[in-house]
Amino acid sequence: MDNCIFCKIIKRQQPAKIVYEDEEVVAIEDIRPQAPVHLLVMPRKHLPSLKEAENSDGPMLGRLFTVAAQLARERQLEARGYRTVINNGPWAGQTVDHLHVHMLGGRVFHWPPG
Ligand code: AMP
Ligand code: ZN
Repeated sequence: MDNCIFCKIIKRQQPAKIVYEDEEVVAIEDIRPQAPVHLLVMPRKHLPSLKEAENSDGPMLGRLFTVAAQLARERQLEARGYRTVINNGPWAGQTVDHLHVHMLGGRVFHWPPG
């Protein structure tokens, strides 16, 4: 996708703090962090949201979460806990149409979310 900000970050056409990458997944620091730790874990493949995911995307979706868990572990977030979130569509507050898992930690989160 030519005008997708996350595709540009993945292709190094836009600066970002990349904290992890492999052949399938890239993780960056959120530019407007909502917690002491706020990372975004995304596939290299452009998928607008979970709505477009197909059964064949299952392994990639699993990787997004296992990478999020690994990054949380490395940041000593396991004992107290952390939150993983995917916003899908306007009512959920999705603002970037490239699938991403938010991994937030370092403070208490309330439920239900706002
Ligand atoms: P969502 O609202 O769920 O689509 O999440 C999009 C997230 O991307 C927000 O938390 C933004 O702060 C973050 N974001 C937008 N642009 C950038 C950027 N250039 N680098 C890092 N994070 C970004
Ligand atoms: Zn994209």
